[in-house]
Amino acid sequence: MEAQQLVPRQVPRVETRHRRIVTPIPVPESIPILEKLRQNEPRSMSGQPPVVWDRAEGVYVYDRWGNQWLDWSSGVLVTNAGHNHPKIRQAILEQVQHGLVHNYCFPSEIRARCVEALARVAPEPLKKVFLLTTGSETLECAIKLCRTWGQKIGGKRKIGIVSFHNAFHGRTLGAQMIGGIPALKSWIVNLDPDMIQVPFPDGFRGVDTSFDGFLKALEAQGYSPDRVAGVITETYQGGNASFAPTEYMQQLRAWCNQHQVLLVMDEVQAGFGRTGKYWGFEHYGIVPDLICCGKGISSGLPISAVIGRPEVMDLYPPGSMTSTHTGNPVCCAAVLANLQVIEEENLVERARCLGEIFQPELRRIRLRFFDHIGMVHGRGLVASLHMVRPGTIEPWPQLASRVVLRCVEKGLMLFAPVGYAGASVKLAPPLVITEDALREGIATLEEAIEEVIREIG
Ligand code: PMP
Repeated sequence: MEAQQLVPRQVPRVETRHRRIVTPIPVPESIPILEKLRQNEPRSMSGQPPVVWDRAEGVYVYDRWGNQWLDWSSGVLVTNAGHNHPKIRQAILEQVQHGLVHNYCFPSEIRARCVEALARVAPEPLKKVFLLTTGSETLECAIKLCRTWGQKIGGKRKIGIVSFHNAFHGRTLGAQMIGGIPALKSWIVNLDPDMIQVPFPDGFRGVDTSFDGFLKALEAQGYSPDRVAGVITETYQGGNASFAPTEYMQQLRAWCNQHQVLLVMDEVQAGFGRTGKYWGFEHYGIVPDLICCGKGISSGLPISAVIGRPEVMDLYPPGSMTSTHTGNPVCCAAVLANLQVIEEENLVERARCLGEIFQPELRRIRLRFFDHIGMVHGRGLVASLHMVRPGTIEPWPQLASRVVLRCVEKGLMLFAPVGYAGASVKLAPPLVITEDALREGIATLEEAIEEVIREIG
């Protein structure tokens, strides 16, 4: 989304149980804050709708001027347990009051409990957990482990990393090299020739959904299986909420076994219940060798993890795979409380059940605006609307931006469009949302799309 003009737009007043918009957007009093950010931060940080978040609780976001949004962003798929969950807040406060807020890689009991809890929720044989801070770092670590493993079992040639077109894995160097969005890596002058991408079989942008397509794409790039160390994929492609066919993923798993290739699932978005299963890869009936997770792991604080097979996770000797904030005690306390909330409040099952309302409703809306919504993808409580130029599949990012802004003006918080050509309106309510709030959000979204389409003619 281009930087927004900071000109307040009078919007109709909204007062419902879940939304309350009483001022123009952006709020005139918020403009000095927005300007201070623009002045002191890089331009890249100014892409979101012009709302200054003050507090957030459960499924609501508040500013300081009396506005309340129903949040369908989950702060970019982080707050699975809702914003500022009382049990998570309490755990954070207790850890701070206990008096340990940093301990580098020195052992701590809270870190021991955190990695034990994460190992418990991961499937066999993924039983070792390495804590990091961001999602991107987990992908960097996965690349390193795949290549180290590949060379150990197959020599210097077995270093290939295969990933997918349109994939997003983060913004650090390795994560961008394995990403599948060329525009994001145009700054990298010497792309690694042993990091290659193949089409993602989403049935929309990647039309060939057969596993043959994978084999042919490898062959076309002159890459033989014995040179591949790892295949890395998002469980669903985050930008577009697109899943691969189950058979494809099962064949990929079998192919990786056959050729001693590690399969890495990037669950940074999909993990911790978002799709109606604890792990997104459960939809495919497979288990990867490494899982990358972040975002929903703590419902708020910056912590991430690689979870994997012990023989791969143990490749590096003491002290050589670490990070300064590995297992920060306050973040570990948040993870432990978050996992407990996910379990106690049945959030995985909740996402599955609510998904049975959410997904069909979005597909109904798509049928209503068939010309402008090229496709709806998603499962559980994540979805995306692919906005297109009428009657084509050509992405229409401006339409997506206008729909997002209109939703925000109506009190439904969404983040800026993402995905293919930036034309995807992504929807991701916290998993604690009620059916009533979900239905209100759906009605608001539908109204916003209707108005924007009417206005553009
Ligand atoms: N992988 C996926 C699937 C993501 O969606 C993201 C972030 N949007 C990342 C990796 C990178 O995570 P982070 O921004 O925490 O580095």
